[in-house]
Amino acid sequence: MGKDKIIEIDPSAGFCFGVENAIQIAEENMNQGSPVYGLGHMVHNEVEIGRLDQLGMKTISVMDFPDLSPGKVIIRAHGEPPSTYALAQAHKIDIIDATCPIVSNLQKKIYKQHRKLDREKEQIIIFGKEGHPETIGLMGQTRGEAILITDPNDISAIDRRKTIFLFSQTTMDPDQFEVLEENIRKITQVSEKTKFEANCSICGQMKKRKPELRNFASKHDLIIFVSGAKSSNGAMLYNFCKQQNKFTFWIHSVEDIDPEWLKMDGSIGISGATSTPSWQLKQVKEQLEALAKEL
Ligand code: SF4
Repeated sequence: MGKDKIIEIDPSAGFCFGVENAIQIAEENMNQGSPVYGLGHMVHNEVEIGRLDQLGMKTISVMDFPDLSPGKVIIRAHGEPPSTYALAQAHKIDIIDATCPIVSNLQKKIYKQHRKLDREKEQIIIFGKEGHPETIGLMGQTRGEAILITDPNDISAIDRRKTIFLFSQTTMDPDQFEVLEENIRKITQVSEKTKFEANCSICGQMKKRKPELRNFASKHDLIIFVSGAKSSNGAMLYNFCKQQNKFTFWIHSVEDIDPEWLKMDGSIGISGATSTPSWQLKQVKEQLEALAKEL
């Protein structure tokens, strides 16, 4: 006879709106029969990428544009720099733009700021992850002229004599953005001529995520955190979750579940990153329930 164990999925976990929307667009197009190419992985989650591959999605890069057979190319939620659209046009490639509308608005804002930039007196700073597709798309709005800051405590690349327009990749850690803002304010206070405009462009879903996760992690005795190994959002949220509840374990797929966890007393919470699909969270819950019955 198995033990009754409380196993709950974090109601705030699962895909963010932008990723959900992009995957829905991809699936709708695959259902129409013509080949669908994903420009880069649709989401930083190996299991979901595997599912989309099974449905027929082929993942490509811009380097494949010259040799592409007829079909549609989907731009994922993270967006792309203007050079990608220009290259697609040059090769007469049919683009389906699934850029998240929030990212798209941010790209337009940075583009406009860059167009009117007085390079002698002003500079654009982007807080983001080096090599992250969204940051590549944002930097592209400035033809690569913006200064990329990846560490909020290293602002040595900023010119202290120029006005600063600060933007952020939508998925950065809001606490880290505050540290950066504070560090920049210190230099602008020293030089009265330096103006500072901070545009906190971190997505609302990201801002809510940490407080929600803090509540959820403290409600349960053990937390299983599900996300792809390459998801930077997943790594950040997992570390945060572990700070709230030391019995937090990170898994990338249902196969990583350790049956020993079920032997611990108390309830189990299942949470994940904005790139973790709800079906995977359910799959983990079902597996845990099956293992609990065997105890
Ligand atoms: S995190 Fe927010 S801005 Fe980024 S893709 Fe998701 S919904 Fe869009």
